[in-house]
Amino acid sequence: MTLALVSAPAPAASPALAAPAPERTLSAFYHALHQRLGPQHWWPAETPFEVIVGAILTQSTAWTNVERAIANLRNASLLQPAALSRVRLSRLERLVRPSGYYRQKARKLKAFVRFLEREYGGSLERMFREPTDALRARLLAIHGIGPETADSILLYAGNHPIFVMDAYTRRILSRHGLTHPDVEYHEAQAIFHRELPREARLFTEYHALLVETGKRWCLKSKAQCGECPLGRFLEPKQ
Ligand code: SF4
Repeated sequence: MTLALVSAPAPAASPALAAPAPERTLSAFYHALHQRLGPQHWWPAETPFEVIVGAILTQSTAWTNVERAIANLRNASLLQPAALSRVRLSRLERLVRPSGYYRQKARKLKAFVRFLEREYGGSLERMFREPTDALRARLLAIHGIGPETADSILLYAGNHPIFVMDAYTRRILSRHGLTHPDVEYHEAQAIFHRELPREARLFTEYHALLVETGKRWCLKSKAQCGECPLGRFLEPKQ
């Protein structure tokens, strides 16, 4: 991708004197976003289990659809591991239907609660006492849980300091020349782990700010850099 929307072209007569872009560090990005957007207070959920359910249901769909599915589960008193474990699969499929791919997602939810019961007696508290890397490996072994879902569960439900990579974040990094557009999940994640303090609160806030940036300005079809708080970190055009 070319950065065709860089705010202002460098003066033709004196390119050597063009002001350099401010330092493109992840800390500088964070402060610029936080200053403009303020605290985000993510994830939108009432309990850690609801975060987990949301992280599974949000795969390949918009959050508004997830909200409808979660409302169905709440009205049916199923937002607890034991209740979700007992409910018939066909009923669960009907309830999560608004989130799309409902058959697969109902099975994924069942797979998660079976894992929780088998390995931790149904206790999220016990599960989250595991060391981050060990629990991550176990989550990834569950049917239907990939890196982004596992990391969302670890960070937002369990307060484990691990950065969640998503399409918005990878797009922003690559448009700023910090990664290749096809960068691997773990490679992009490693940049955040290397450059920032490993703090869950910072990671939740930062990820939420990047998602908001992706929705407001860094659209897939068009980057609106002139209005974006990260516009000043783009290299001036030569
Ligand atoms: S994050 Fe903002 S400044 Fe950077 S490419 Fe996207 S829209 Fe442009």
